Amino acid sequence: MKNIKDYNLDELKEEMISINEKPFRAEQIFKWIYVENVVDFSDMTNLSLELREKLKQNYTLNIYKIIKKQESLDGTKKYLFDILDGNAIETVLMQYKHGYSICVSSQVGCKMGCKFCASTGLACVRNLTAGEIAEQILAVERDTGIKISNVVFMGIGEPFDNFDNVLKSIKIINNQKGLNIGARHISVSTCGVVPKIYEIADMDLQCTLSISLHATTNEKRSAMMPINNKYNIEELMKACKYYIEKTNKRISFEYALAKDNNDNLEDARSLVKLLKGMLCHVNLIPINKIENGKYDTSTNENIIKFRDYLNDHGIVATIRRELGDDIDAACGQLRRKEGGNG
Ligand code: SF4
Repeated sequence: MKNIKDYNLDELKEEMISINEKPFRAEQIFKWIYVENVVDFSDMTNLSLELREKLKQNYTLNIYKIIKKQESLDGTKKYLFDILDGNAIETVLMQYKHGYSICVSSQVGCKMGCKFCASTGLACVRNLTAGEIAEQILAVERDTGIKISNVVFMGIGEPFDNFDNVLKSIKIINNQKGLNIGARHISVSTCGVVPKIYEIADMDLQCTLSISLHATTNEKRSAMMPINNKYNIEELMKACKYYIEKTNKRISFEYALAKDNNDNLEDARSLVKLLKGMLCHVNLIPINKIENGKYDTSTNENIIKFRDYLNDHGIVATIRRELGDDIDAACGQLRRKEGGNG
């Protein structure tokens, strides 16, 4: 059966025509899905019984089941969802001053093999479809009754390795007739798939781009992130500069600090050199220690020194508040523990 959430509004209109229905039905259905968040076609009460029946016969609303939910003392909620094909994915809900933010997965597993990531070591099973990405938001909204205002593509998977579906899901999430989450409130994070940075720069997409940088020399970065062997720091920076020039938008560089690895002042100096003059912001993240992982979290003292050095040298840097550190909040951790497939 086709997942009705895999259609953006224009496609849903086409789909309605293809089943001999009027295109305006698409807007009604879209509203039932993304505004009313219904779990059954029977609840779409302004559609004829005949159409509701037709929808039931041909489509699914793909409603996720919660396998496990962990709740942190700070309110962060982590979900392990059964996505109805035998696979499980993780989604995290975080509360900030400016509202609720959700961290979505884009793939079942990940091919990128970053050494500090709990998804590494598990196979990449498949890409998520656009509807499967959007359902993560709907499932959390159903469970909590809250309205999500920000979406970050920082869960399991490399969004640019599933480029078309991720872009399509952004279009769906962003649609004013549905979830209506503004593009400026959607952030896509990549480990550095350089060709897609150029593509996204040329698209005039209003989303925020985050780059997982984590090191300033090719030697260190390749040891942490195998993608660096394919696209090294020089190529990555060239693409980032192109993106900034083309979009006039600020890039957010993620830098996970690992004790005695990339957290000393020498690294901070080299980061300043690398980013000098760029329209950017640095997000410092105390690395989340994973089971059997080789990296340890930096000391608070080092993290603060690192931030202060960047700020004193003209690079705006903040330390990301550690949310959910009493639960398995780092991407892939919950799934790994539950023996997830991928
Ligand atoms: S950090 Fe992101 S890109 Fe790297 S392995 Fe984990 S999920 Fe994949």
